[in-house]
Amino acid sequence: MFSVAVRAVTASFRTCEQCGKVFLGVRKICDACFAKEEQEFELVSDYLRDHPNAQAKEVSDETGVEVAHVMKWVKEGRLIARINYACERCGATIHGGRYCAECTAELGRDLQKTKAALLRSNDGYYSKR
Ligand SMILES: [Zn+2]
Ligand SMILES: [Zn+2]
Repeated sequence: MFSVAVRAVTASFRTCEQCGKVFLGVRKICDACFAKEEQEFELVSDYLRDHPNAQAKEVSDETGVEVAHVMKWVKEGRLIARINYACERCGATIHGGRYCAECTAELGRDLQKTKAALLRSNDGYYSKR
C-alpha cells in the first residue's frame, strides 16, 4: 500500500483528479486542490485527535469533508488515528486497510477472484455487498 508513495517523482503535465484542470507537477491533483485538501486534512486530523474512535461518516458530518477524502487518507496511511469504516468486500467494521482480516485471507487464497473483484469494484462496489 505504501509503494505508490515512494516511487520516484518527475514533474510532468497531468490532469487533476479532482477538478480536471491540466497542470504541471508531481501530484495527482493541482496546487489549488492540494491546498484545499490540506485544509480538509487538518480539519479531519484535529477532529480525530478529540474523537479517536470516530466513524468515517461521523467525521465527515462533523467536518464537512467528504467521506471519500477521509477514506483516501486512511487507506494511504496518512490518518494515524483509529477510524472505523466498512470492509470494501463484506461491509464488516474495520479500522485499517481496505478489507477485514477474513476477506484479506480469502482474497489471498484466490488471486483470480481478487482480480475479477477489483475490476468489478471499479464501477461501484458500494452497490453490492
Ligand atoms: Zn484541481
Ligand atoms: Zn470483509
